[in-house]
Amino acid sequence: MRIVRFQYGSETGYGLLEEEEIAEIGSPFVGGEEFLKTGRRFPRAGVRILAPCTPSKVLCIGLNYRGHAQELKLPLPDKPVLFMKPSTAVIGPEETIIFPPASRRVDYEAELGVVIRRPAKNVPQEKALDYVLGYTCANDVTARDLQSPTGQWTYAKGFDTFCPLGPWIETEVDDPEKLQVKGYLNGKLVQSASTAEHIFPVAELIAFISACMTLLPGDVIITGTPSGIGPLQPGDRFTVEIEAIGRLSNPCAGEG
Ligand code: MG
Repeated sequence: MRIVRFQYGSETGYGLLEEEEIAEIGSPFVGGEEFLKTGRRFPRAGVRILAPCTPSKVLCIGLNYRGHAQELKLPLPDKPVLFMKPSTAVIGPEETIIFPPASRRVDYEAELGVVIRRPAKNVPQEKALDYVLGYTCANDVTARDLQSPTGQWTYAKGFDTFCPLGPWIETEVDDPEKLQVKGYLNGKLVQSASTAEHIFPVAELIAFISACMTLLPGDVIITGTPSGIGPLQPGDRFTVEIEAIGRLSNPCAGEG
């Protein structure tokens, strides 16, 4: 199933995307396995699709594909490289990535996003995927010129609009380690790799992170980018496409 978050008038809600209609549901983060339908239906074309959840925090993994570590000339990590994006960085499909004046080089990074369904603390790896609601597309937008000088990935990657998520949460993914992740810059393929190349698989990431902090319903883990990173310019459009999930596309603009 595809879970969307959407806006109609001044209200927002969650729903199941059913072809060209949305069947509204209650919060997908409370209750049992079944999603509670409210009975209201909306034409997809008549609502605005939002980021698919409102994470309290976005946990991000650096260097989770061998090819990307090589292109940055960094050694393969023994443990996941963890940093965070604030909730204020999150935007939805078709929302604009805004370039901050502080940076002269803003990069795209196509990534698989993992949406947490229920509180997760000290979760063993074998049970970790039980805590996942589903998967979405993510773009780990990065002020590359600020990453090395500051040594602070959260600063380089935490600007407003630097975390596009969407377009929905796909709940039916058999194996998150067998998905093709692609990035398109203005329609041209620039990134392509299988999540089979993950150095740390999703289940291990959830175990690692939840040994430190409680993952809350709606929190998102973005799992690292394949090789092929590069810069964006105002006026560009970047699209993340993940097999069995969908496509997330965002335009770019300068500030002001
Ligand atoms: Mg990244």
